[in-house]
Amino acid sequence: MLKRQLAGDSSCQRCGAQSETTDHLLFTCPFARAMWFGSALALIIPPDGLFSVAQLLHHWPKMNFPNKRTSEEALSLVVFICWTLWLARNDKVFGNREWTPEEVISHAQVSCAEFLASTTGCLTPQVHIHDQQARTSMWTPPDPRTIKVNCNAALHLDEPGSGIGVVLRNHRGLPIQASSDPIPFHDALLGEALAILNGMQVASATACTRIQVESDSKELVTLIKETSTPPPVFIRSTLHDIKVLALTFNTCMFSHIPRDANQVAHALARKALSVACQTDWPLSTPWILQACCKDSEYCSCPFLQ
Ligand SMILES: [Zn+2]
Repeated sequence: MLKRQLAGDSSCQRCGAQSETTDHLLFTCPFARAMWFGSALALIIPPDGLFSVAQLLHHWPKMNFPNKRTSEEALSLVVFICWTLWLARNDKVFGNREWTPEEVISHAQVSCAEFLASTTGCLTPQVHIHDQQARTSMWTPPDPRTIKVNCNAALHLDEPGSGIGVVLRNHRGLPIQASSDPIPFHDALLGEALAILNGMQVASATACTRIQVESDSKELVTLIKETSTPPPVFIRSTLHDIKVLALTFNTCMFSHIPRDANQVAHALARKALSVACQTDWPLSTPWILQACCKDSEYCSCPFLQ
């Protein structure tokens, strides 16, 4: 458009760079570089402004992927990150809305997961069941079209301090969002309810349409699923919000799982006790990747292996 003199301002609206070329927008803009690093690819784009689509494709075969399928899936994610950066750029330039970095990453990863699920036609996750007994206390991946939302709460019994942790993962065990929030509550059941509500809000904000919500509070999951038992007064409004929000998803399931199968959310809730404010962890944070990888040892987990 600039060549045809149709564009007035050719500078980057994010960083003010003089010329918003395709390579700048998709790779070398500081915003784009942060997206690549924060994504499941954890790709480090050199800061010298010399990086292009052609270079990436040229180097791709030399990258150390364990097999062809993993390479193809990672390349699909590259395409979806580029596409999402373009969508976010347009929304910003045309004044529609400002995407947060977390929204860009999760939109790209969710879209990519949905694309891969639709192209492979694989409706059942690749779960290698070692034995049925072991699996009952393991985290299991959702089906390819569903995002699993694990939630947990942490409460200090003898000193002030409480918080919640939430992790969203796809059918390969990839984290899409992981957050800790030091919100105040004085009852563990209320904390668990607030964690579920927060997990659903995060899923809603990241454009998930099919979710499976898991909590290790059996009492809470029973209260959500069964209407015959009147809930304690102090969680009624939160339960009401959970049920109303559930109706906005195409599919929203609630399950109780053992504590062992909820380790990542548990760790995120514990972290909430030591952070000052709501924290969305970069998905490349080593302890999160390690925890997700440990959970995913029973499922195919290409980016983490
Ligand atoms: Zn820029």
